[in-house]
Amino acid sequence: MSPGWKRKCDSCGRDVKARYEILEQRICNACYSRLRRNAAPCPACAQMKVLAFRSGDGQIVCAACAGVPSRFGCDRCGSEEHLTGSHCGRCRLEDRLDDVLADANGRVHPRLVPLREHLLSARDPRSAVRWLRIEPIGRTLRAMAQGAKPLSHETVNELGRSTRIRYFRRMLIAAGSLPEIDVRLNDLELRSRALIDGLPAEYAIIITRFFNWETLRKLRRRPVDRPISVGVANARATEVRKVAAFLAWLGENHLKLPTLNQVAVDRYLAHHDPNLIIGRFLAWVVRHRITQHFDVPRAQSTVSPATIAEDAVWEKVDVLLQTESTPMSSRIIGLFLLVFAQPIRDSVRLRRDDVQFTGENVKVQFGSTPVVLPPPIAELLVRYLDDTCDRPPYAGSPPGWLFEGVMPQQHLSDASVRFNLAKHGLHAREIKHARLDHLVQVLPASIVADITGFTVNTAMRHSANTRADWGIYSELRTRECKELDLGE
Ligand SMILES: [Zn+2]
Ligand SMILES: [Zn+2]
Ligand SMILES: [Zn+2]
Repeated sequence: MSPGWKRKCDSCGRDVKARYEILEQRICNACYSRLRRNAAPCPACAQMKVLAFRSGDGQIVCAACAGVPSRFGCDRCGSEEHLTGSHCGRCRLEDRLDDVLADANGRVHPRLVPLREHLLSARDPRSAVRWLRIEPIGRTLRAMAQGAKPLSHETVNELGRSTRIRYFRRMLIAAGSLPEIDVRLNDLELRSRALIDGLPAEYAIIITRFFNWETLRKLRRRPVDRPISVGVANARATEVRKVAAFLAWLGENHLKLPTLNQVAVDRYLAHHDPNLIIGRFLAWVVRHRITQHFDVPRAQSTVSPATIAEDAVWEKVDVLLQTESTPMSSRIIGLFLLVFAQPIRDSVRLRRDDVQFTGENVKVQFGSTPVVLPPPIAELLVRYLDDTCDRPPYAGSPPGWLFEGVMPQQHLSDASVRFNLAKHGLHAREIKHARLDHLVQVLPASIVADITGFTVNTAMRHSANTRADWGIYSELRTRECKELDLGE
């Protein structure tokens, strides 16, 4: 063994060569790399530095503050942040971007400059370096930069549909390199076209007509800032599949659309589509005289009325307050649902600006009236904000969502919250109505209407015949009325 080595690492305790001497310890390769990679604010100068030296008074500080030459700084810029090899994360990312985004003249393609700036704002540039290495991301960006592929949504469409590609598209939109579109609607279109392309031509023609005119045209009328929901996207995709199955059934039974009759339609619906998923399609073929006239039955609502007992609700409140294993964002949104009857789809769209701190209170603006959170929920929200304050992976994410999603600039998806809450037996629709009964006990009907979106009349009807016990949350009532100065 060479004299500089020791057979055991003082830091991790493993029996490995410990060739580095740091802070009176002999440490191994792995521990040394970990130290280098994790710069932290220096207690003396507050800059992000590798803390591996002692100051005169024995504090662990950076090299500069200890008055010794740094052995860690980036070869190019001297930074000690996000080190990887001989360079810092930012220098490495700059090199990588200049390479991937270069046009034929070796300069960054002008329309990709915003993407370059955006990626350089990453809190940890190393994650952006890794992302650029993922295929087909790197390859596609290079092709766009060099003009081999147009810088357009169509080029991204060619890459197929996956979470990775969706993330890529959202990133290009977030950076401003591609125009804003409804990504989910675009995906629905891709998904449906792929399905239709696999069908025999005679069916493909009719479904394409239906899909383009009856589905897409209506969905495209929505404003860009109100994208379609996951639920609508899934329902429309299922519809296309069900219509294809129906047309296949017609073929198997030697039936054709122009001669389709009531008996055949009823037989099909009874056996193959009791929930009337193809109802919109049937109404459309009748309306456009593609078939002869027949009656399309109306879909029955399968939603059961609200049935959830008072103590069951409070039990669920307690579960959400305490279950650390469920993501905090879902727990808070679940509590907003249970206590304030807030639909999940509205809660996920809350922005940081909708939360206000006033002395002791935390208020959330669900409608136009800020509502004071009961203390246990306020504490959870404050903890969540502390945990996530430096979370958005790219600086200055413009929308400022309270609940950031995984995709660039997107809020948390309602589907993931629903999924997490379903594990606790929480189903939004039945709860929203049940909670109205309780809310009207603690808030004036007009405010209940404002924050829940129910009409004032509905809220007042509920307030007339309910009696709620807020238990430990009873202070909500007094605080609320004081706060809003709006006693009933
Ligand atoms: Zn070690
Ligand atoms: Zn320092
Ligand atoms: Zn550097």
